[in-house]
Amino acid sequence: AKSAGGNASVVYHARMTQRASGRLDLESDLRLALDRDELCLYYQPIMDLEAGVPLGFEELLRWQHPAHGLLMPDRFVPIAEETGLIVPIGSWLLKETLNQVQQWRRDLAEGPDLTAAVNISGRQLVAEDFPDIVETAIRETGIDPSAVNLEITETVLMDEPDLPKETLQRLYRMGVGLSIDDFGTGYSSLSYLKWLSARTLKIDRTFVQELAADPRAGTVIELVLGMANSLKLDVVAEGVETESQLRELRRLGVTQAQGFIWSKPIPAEQVPAFLSTFPAL
Ligand code: C2E
Ligand code: CA
Ligand code: CA
Ligand code: CA
Repeated sequence: AKSAGGNASVVYHARMTQRASGRLDLESDLRLALDRDELCLYYQPIMDLEAGVPLGFEELLRWQHPAHGLLMPDRFVPIAEETGLIVPIGSWLLKETLNQVQQWRRDLAEGPDLTAAVNISGRQLVAEDFPDIVETAIRETGIDPSAVNLEITETVLMDEPDLPKETLQRLYRMGVGLSIDDFGTGYSSLSYLKWLSARTLKIDRTFVQELAADPRAGTVIELVLGMANSLKLDVVAEGVETESQLRELRRLGVTQAQGFIWSKPIPAEQVPAFLSTFPAL
């Protein structure tokens, strides 16, 4: 854009200003959103492909904005992260999710023990009191700590080389699981896998979506499965949309997956109806 000359650069600046001020609005609105109960959680099932039932739910944040309608996280989570607002928001949604999933676990006394996957940003993880916040949320909701998976993106692990090891150790000792989200998208050395004691790798949906077009996508998934197997990690394939993707993933040996083929993220109120479609539960 810089070399584009006079007019183009005026348009460019106008757009940037517009975008920046739109952003400022959102930023000040976001400061109030939590108190005004505008943030809400959607849940997407994570499926056990062998048993054919959901094994847990991932929480996905939404913002019911009074003027702009339902906002997706890509519109506001980056703002929440830069301003630090993600820390109080994240504490709230952790507790909310554990409480909700624990409720479903009680309702399904005969079913599998559903797990709760919660997205955690780097800002939360590096805060000194993060393990206390997790511990309190677990104690207050009564959920089994082994049912809790904290999802951290691979890029956070790369961007935060000084991740507090005590935090990770304390979470591990509590029995809480770590999932490496968007696995395969960062150009990482994988060395973190050795000391992190993660429980799960979530294969990014771009690999699933490339399956049909590019045979190498399948090869990458096979490599990840092989590595995960020797490190005793679970693998979840994300973003499964079609029967042919599912067939191919099963053929490769994937046993856990999530995607629109089963359900989009849905509000908590719709989860009991979803669960009731599985007679085995
Ligand atoms: P993510 O953690 O990788 O979440 C998966 C995203 O993929 C979700 O988008 C979900 O709706 C979408 N998805 C699920 N299945 C399919 C599918 O079959 N096809 C396609 N095309 N997409 C699928 P969403 O809800 O827009 O969230 C985007 C990202 O925002 C998340 O990516 C996560 O990084 C972040 N995010 C969401 N909630 C939170 C939160 O509570 N805290 C933090 N820190 N980040 C969050
Ligand atoms: Ca149970
Ligand atoms: Ca996630
Ligand atoms: Ca992901």
